[in-house]
Amino acid sequence: MLKGKVALVTGASRGIGKAIALELARQGAKVAVNFAGNQQKAEEVVAEIKALGSDAIAIKADVANADEVNMMVKETIDAFGSLEILVNNAGITRDGLIMRMKEDDWDAVINTNLKGVFNCSKAVTRQMMKQRFGKIVNISSVVGVLGNAGQANYVAAKAGVIGLTKTLARELANRNITVNAVAPGFIETDMTEELSTEIKQELLKQIPLAKLGSAEDIASAVRFLVSDEANYMTGQTLHVDGGMVMN
Ligand code: NAD
Repeated sequence: MLKGKVALVTGASRGIGKAIALELARQGAKVAVNFAGNQQKAEEVVAEIKALGSDAIAIKADVANADEVNMMVKETIDAFGSLEILVNNAGITRDGLIMRMKEDDWDAVINTNLKGVFNCSKAVTRQMMKQRFGKIVNISSVVGVLGNAGQANYVAAKAGVIGLTKTLARELANRNITVNAVAPGFIETDMTEELSTEIKQELLKQIPLAKLGSAEDIASAVRFLVSDEANYMTGQTLHVDGGMVMN
């Protein structure tokens, strides 16, 4: 499905990003595995991709830092010759009620989760325009639509990602570049592992399908959006959340 395509996945050393990187590789894409801190984990993903018969490299870059992002995109194109797919997955949480949320907590989450998407999308645009082909998928969140007490920074960033997705979709459409988002519900990863059993029980009550999702559920949606099957879709947000948000 993705033979001959090159994908850059941010925050791909674990969790949802790792599942996306592996799924795109399974479909034949070569993958640049971006990581922020844990090189060993990123190299493990690279090894898994090579074992699948595709090719990959690990690239360290902080998505909040435009210079590092530009270097990462250059390194990807130098290594593989093109760049057709960008998945903006990197994200962090720094939760707290508004009265207690420190300015630092606000800035860190906005810089990684929203400015990071801007930085990476901007950095790939020239190459994708030249190719007259590109697929950008941004990982938002169900809470970007519903809101969530204690996550003002995270929710603002994830809602921002949906607006950014629509705007980039409009700006880049005439160059055959599509930009879509996936809004996961509650997915079992390191990010949600810290939630108490009580909170998880509460959450389950809000999920019509009555279970948490898996990283692979998100990877399937991304696989679809970057495939030719989604060529006529842009500016959309796919909700992969067990039915929490119904349009
Ligand atoms: P995770 O914490 O397991 O993975 C996030 C990854 O992003 C990590 O590998 C981390 O190192 C990387 N990262 C963080 N800051 C970075 C930076 N500045 N530059 C580069 N990489 C950076 O979390 P996850 O659950 O796999 O989440 C992946 C994405 O899905 C995030 O954007 C998250 O907000 C979103 N999401 C997750 C859930 C969920 O329930 N797990 C729900 C909705 C949305």
